Amino acid sequence: MSDCLFCRMVAGEIPADVVHSTDRVFAFRDINPQAPTHVLVIPKDHHRTVGALAAADPALLAEVISAAQDVARQEGLVAGDGEEPGFRLVTNTGPQAGQTVHHVHLHVLGGRHMNWPPG
Ligand code: 5GP
Ligand code: ZN
Repeated sequence: MSDCLFCRMVAGEIPADVVHSTDRVFAFRDINPQAPTHVLVIPKDHHRTVGALAAADPALLAEVISAAQDVARQEGLVAGDGEEPGFRLVTNTGPQAGQTVHHVHLHVLGGRHMNWPPG
């Protein structure tokens, strides 16, 4: 998958501001942050969408979500397994949702009030 931007970041071919890394999961700051904290959490293996990942490797999807919680804790968005002040997890699938990178990623957004409904 040498043509995939996020695979190349995992491989160290493109620099990333890494905030969390395990055997199978990688997290780094978004280059165009939409909130004071904006981190992308990805599986190191290439899967196009969250649905594809859930079908292929549900345990890995669970690891990605756990890593997102770890990142939120690290960034001061929650304490322990708590809920305060909070954060938002977003994953876009397909053009209408605005998916631009076709390697599944969870956006961890926090540090400001999040509006609902989203844009
Ligand atoms: P999507 O639109 O697919 O849900 O999210 C893709 C995200 O990747 C966007 O928020 C965009 O800012 C981020 N992004 C695109 N290129 C790069 C890059 O080269 N480095 C980093 N750190 N983030 C990127
Ligand atoms: Zn990839």
